[in-house]
Amino acid sequence: MKLTHRTVTLALREPFSISRSTDKTVDSVFIEIEHDGLIGYGEASPQEHYGESVESATAFLADAEALLWDDPFALDEIEARLASLSGEHAAKAAIDMALHDLCGKLAGVPVWRLLGLRRVGPPTSWTIWLGDPDDMARRTERVGDRFQRLKLKLGAGDGLDVERVRAVRGVTALPLQVDVNEAWELDEALENVLALGGLGVQYVEQPLRAGHDGGARLKQESPVPIYVDEDVHTLQDVTAAAERAHGVNLKLAKSGGIREAVRMAYAAKALGLGVMLGCMVESSVGIAAAAQMASLCDHVDLDGNLLLGDDPWTGVDFVDGVQIPSDQPGLGVHEALSRTG
Ligand SMILES: [Mg+2]
Repeated sequence: MKLTHRTVTLALREPFSISRSTDKTVDSVFIEIEHDGLIGYGEASPQEHYGESVESATAFLADAEALLWDDPFALDEIEARLASLSGEHAAKAAIDMALHDLCGKLAGVPVWRLLGLRRVGPPTSWTIWLGDPDDMARRTERVGDRFQRLKLKLGAGDGLDVERVRAVRGVTALPLQVDVNEAWELDEALENVLALGGLGVQYVEQPLRAGHDGGARLKQESPVPIYVDEDVHTLQDVTAAAERAHGVNLKLAKSGGIREAVRMAYAAKALGLGVMLGCMVESSVGIAAAAQMASLCDHVDLDGNLLLGDDPWTGVDFVDGVQIPSDQPGLGVHEALSRTG
């Protein structure tokens, strides 16, 4: 199999702020794996926070090509060979996506069917990024009825996070989820979760920094379910997550692809944990790949492609707040026709 890749800078519709950063553009690495006249597509969204970059991902891809050999269905063997190259989960995910795309195309079925899963999962949340309480409420009003649930980014460090949720709650009846991206200290978290319990918040994502030793106590005392994201990357993290959380947020860019994320979903269910499926800011390639397994999950947060000003790919249908994967073979993704003619 032949692997090629290119890096593309994707512009966001509007700057996107979370507790640790503000972004106007993101870089994605798009890959193609060619086999027998067919092409499988994948996307890597390397995260600086996890020590990955476009440079480290592309260096990994250059080394990985020689380990693919010639059978795209040999997913287990390929994964074992790639494990000899450490880290680079985003790039590993891109390869996993492209191999699944190829397998689906060879079998003539969409990946969700290849996996034996249902096509349609829960509705996606829409992210209201971090801003002042009033600003977040105004942006919430503009969302209208396109989405069935909202995820609020919190963690400004100004003591106004509960106010933010109250302001947004004042303008919408939609289910609310909040993501703190590791920004709260334990005392703050213990206090805030009590207040959020009264505001109809479905769950609080990653309130404490990854590995914080107050996680178990927070889980015990919180009236609102705690989900972890930065705390859980691959299958080996799921058991420890059960001590500090009621659920886990799976992302292909962390797990290294669909295969590991499916294993994590079942492991989480076995431990009585809720399963959420998230994403990075990425194009319809990455979102289509994740959407293939959305039906396995209790909560879905796959709005990454909808945050882009000009998604270079198509392949996911957004219908009544739900991200529906294609019924075409493989991932069903295609390059969008140029809008500039
Ligand atoms: Mg998160």
